[in-house]
Amino acid sequence: MDPKRILVIEDNELNMKLVVALLSISHYEVLKAENAEVGLQLARKARPDLILMDIQLPGMDGLEATRLIKKDQDLKEIPVIALTSYAMQGDEERAMAAGCSGYIPKPIDTRNFTASVEKFLSGTRTRNAEGD
Ligand code: MN
Repeated sequence: MDPKRILVIEDNELNMKLVVALLSISHYEVLKAENAEVGLQLARKARPDLILMDIQLPGMDGLEATRLIKKDQDLKEIPVIALTSYAMQGDEERAMAAGCSGYIPKPIDTRNFTASVEKFLSGTRTRNAEGD
């Protein structure tokens, strides 16, 4: 079975390293982008199974990037999981309103991170059955 492909859009170098390390240990194929513009290009080219999206990015932020993904016929089925910050109140609500399927808070809990990613990857087909 091919490994699931995950696109990480994150401008913080340390967070990126941590996320890539955790995903690589679990044998996911990882694509990296340091800003939303590059991330959108990669998403169109590589069609990842999941996108992990930082909210605060230089230039276009993660919320706007998520809105664009959800408006794009070719990309809208890809679940976007926001990487939200404890320090930014309301990030979770804004992320969900922009079209994210869920969120993972930062600082990242290394013990639970992989389980969260697996849950979002496996739950993507039934997520809409819950309502709205
Ligand atoms: Mn950031």
